[in-house]
Parts: sequence; C-alpha cells; structure tokens
Amino acid sequence: MKDDFQPVGDAAWRQLNADIVGCRACPRLVAWREQVAREKRPAYRDWEYWGRPVPGFGDPAARLFIVGLAPGAHGSNRTGRMFTGDSSGETLYAALHRAGFASQPVSRNRDDGLTLRDAFITAVARCAPPGNRPTPEEMAACRPFLIREWLLMPQVRVVLALGQVSFEGCLRMLRDFGYNPPRLKFGHGVHASFTSSSSGDLKHLVAAYHPSRQNTQTGRLTPAMLDEVFALARSLLEK
Ligand code: SF4
Repeated sequence: MKDDFQPVGDAAWRQLNADIVGCRACPRLVAWREQVAREKRPAYRDWEYWGRPVPGFGDPAARLFIVGLAPGAHGSNRTGRMFTGDSSGETLYAALHRAGFASQPVSRNRDDGLTLRDAFITAVARCAPPGNRPTPEEMAACRPFLIREWLLMPQVRVVLALGQVSFEGCLRMLRDFGYNPPRLKFGHGVHASFTSSSSGDLKHLVAAYHPSRQNTQTGRLTPAMLDEVFALARSLLEK
C-alpha cells in the first residue's frame, strides 16, 4: 500500500493532513488504534494496518461536507481512508454513488480509484476509539482538525451529519462560526437552513442516522432512507 492520503491539494491541505496523521494527542486512542493495528482481525492478517489518525477524504472544492463519528477499528483504521473497508462504508459509498457523488459504489482500499465529486467526508474524531465511542475530551482535542478543514472549504453549502454525536459537533462548530441554526432535535432527515450573523452566508444542516451495521441490520436505516437524505442534500445544493 502507498503511504499517501487524500486529498492532496495545496500546501495548506498537505500540512493539515500531515498534522492529522502525525497526531498523538489522545493517549487512550493512540494505544487502541496501534493495538488493533498490531493484533489485526484474522481475516485481515495480511494487511498492513494504517493504525494512525485518518484525514478527510474527497473533493476539496466540495459543497457537501459529510461528518461521521470516528474510524472503525478494522475499517478506516485498517485502510487509512474515511469509511473505507467496513460495513458502514459499504452502505455510505453505495448511497453516494447512487446519488452521483461517488465515482464507484464500492470502497475497499486507498488505491481502489474511488473519487468523490462535490462531496468531502470527515469525522469528529480521527482515531478509532474502543467501542466506537470517543470521549467528549477526545472529540474536543480533535476538533481543531475539523475546524481547519472547514476553514479551507468556504464553498460548503450543506453539512450532512451522520449520527447524533456528529450532529451535535456540527451544530457547535456552526454556532462558533457565527451561524444561527435553530434548536434542532436529532432525527433522520431533520434539516435547517440558516445564515451567518456577520456575512449573511447561507448554509444548510442535514441529519442522518449513522450507516453503522447496527442501524442497517436492524432496519433502522435502509438504503431508501439514505437515498432520501442525499436527494435532500442535492436539492439544497441547488438552492
Ligand atoms: S482523536 Fe484526533 S486529537 Fe486525538 S489523537 Fe486522534 S487525531 Fe489526535
């Protein structure tokens, strides 16, 4: 496997991604991501796990900004690309492809040729957490990376939050940047449009259930439900 990562745009992106990949700020997560990478799942014993923080992936000029929770231990902690290599990613990229945001429906590794069009995928925490649960302190430590991505992407129109924790992180970030989203209760398909108090810039926030195996296997989230959310995002982009 190559040791590079996407997106590889200008110097600011390269510096940001290098800072993310080199981060060791959260001792619990550093220990866990590296332990998982050493021990591996038997099915992936021939893999060289990534075992590091995972940078954002996609189109740096995107208008759709998708925010997940954290890398999966044997998903992006193995492959080094957001939502790549596990069941959450299978569900998400298939939906992105149906909606015209992804060049292919499958996402297996960093070299599989997948590209995103007008979409960028990131997360509120960059390291795989035990039990898929980063602590509030770990998310706070990771937040500057999300903010740096946000600042590099002023063209973003729609923020799509996958899961409640990401949704709350997105609301906080938007408020910190002077936007005035209304009080919203998390739910699949919940959305709001609002402007910046300083610039008048219009943004849209959309919530969706996280495409985790737990949600898809129980039928809480179906492909049709994800399609509806991406159709909503598409319509908001055209406003
Ligand atoms: S979760 Fe974020 S802040 Fe913590 S070690 Fe990983 S990259 Fe660094």
